[in-house]
Amino acid sequence: MIKIYNTMTRKKEELNPLHENRIKLFVCGPTVYDNSHIGHARTYISFDVIVRYLKYRGYSVFYLQNITDIDDKIIKRASQLDVEPVELARKFEKRYLEDMQALGVENVNFYARATEHLPEIITQIETLLLEGFAYQTETGVYFDESKFPEFGKLSRRNIEDLNVHRINQDSTKKNPGDFALWKKRDEKPFWKSPWGNGRPGWHIEDTAITEEYLGPQYDIHGGGLDLIFPHHEAEIAQMESVSGKKPMVRYWMHTGFLNVKGEKMSKSLGNFITIRDLLQDHDPEVFRFLVLSTHYRSPIDFSESALEQSKNSLERIYKLIETVNGIIESDISDLNQKDKEHNNKVRDTRNRFLEAMDNDFNTPDALSIIFDFIRDINRSIDHRNISKNSLNDVRSFLMEFGGIFGLKLTNKICIDDKTNDLLEVIVEVRGKLREKKEWELSDLIRSKLGDLDIILEDK
Ligand code: AMP
Repeated sequence: MIKIYNTMTRKKEELNPLHENRIKLFVCGPTVYDNSHIGHARTYISFDVIVRYLKYRGYSVFYLQNITDIDDKIIKRASQLDVEPVELARKFEKRYLEDMQALGVENVNFYARATEHLPEIITQIETLLLEGFAYQTETGVYFDESKFPEFGKLSRRNIEDLNVHRINQDSTKKNPGDFALWKKRDEKPFWKSPWGNGRPGWHIEDTAITEEYLGPQYDIHGGGLDLIFPHHEAEIAQMESVSGKKPMVRYWMHTGFLNVKGEKMSKSLGNFITIRDLLQDHDPEVFRFLVLSTHYRSPIDFSESALEQSKNSLERIYKLIETVNGIIESDISDLNQKDKEHNNKVRDTRNRFLEAMDNDFNTPDALSIIFDFIRDINRSIDHRNISKNSLNDVRSFLMEFGGIFGLKLTNKICIDDKTNDLLEVIVEVRGKLREKKEWELSDLIRSKLGDLDIILEDK
């Protein structure tokens, strides 16, 4: 039985989906006004593994993400760069999707753009006005926080905190904590609405999108810790007021921050590393491994040395697979047989691994179980007391683990720094041959590298 820590109740609860083994999941997507950084990647890799595990456990998951493609930050950046906001948003949406692909984040079933859901947004605002949860002023339409007494139930904040809501400057609002559903604007980009030209507030796009695809009640809603207040709080107020159904979501899941020297990595603090920059010099799996070495709810302190440590740990796994493959494929006579003992070990390790993952997706515990296993198997190999048959089981189990963690664990060789330098020399020489149109020789180098499982792509 999988247990999930629910931010709403601050407890671990048994996973009990609304519809048998079908899970509807929504995770807040990015605001696409710049390249995504590795803080974003932390959140999306965590949810990628959560989904992989749910599927491994037999659930059918529908994973929805929104793309915030209309927002003040997009408009501001577009005007600085003298491009249309939509052009800017599409460019960075494309980059975001490329970055996710490079990181092996591949389980989102549907990305929904805010700008393509204006009718749904307008319908929700109309309902809120009609039911008396919202009011109109000369500057926009606002949600009336005082009409939803449970406001603050997710973040457990008191009214004073709520009143320092970030959009409290507008003097036309009844309460400082009221938030915008529709902002009246005549400057572009704007959309027509029953309240005049304007654009939607940030919170309403998510509930309009989730109602459309998941309905008024669904299983899991996720995002980074920073979204609990005010964003998710506002979502609850909107959706539960629109539908009258509670709760809007069964389990609220929040990821911890990726920090640098104790501070959250963010665009505004300027302490960010983009995913692209990181992947120039580092293998995406090394970063994925670093993320999964920490529990998804805990903070990660990012540093080069943490990356280095992840690289070394990951190499231990690859090294064992390489050794196992080598033995299985070799002609050497079988090592001593202790099949029963090893089969038990694999079974026991798998059970303990699943137990850790069932416990609120505890990836660091799961990894420490894997490393104990690796140590034991290495010892057995050194003492030549494990059969090829058992090594096959070891390999299958490690592949299973790789699938859940999103690590390929196949057809990959460990490249140390020296080999890497050597490869760079080969690639450089081949480049010179290509400049001289020595195609035959340059193709020969590529094909010989291919024989060594090194794929060279001319991009
Ligand atoms: P944004 O585009 O800023 O709305 O962020 C998209 C997602 O990334 C949200 O779920 C954020 O909570 C998450 N996020 C942003 N910065 C970080 C960080 N430093 N660590 C972890 N998650 C983050």
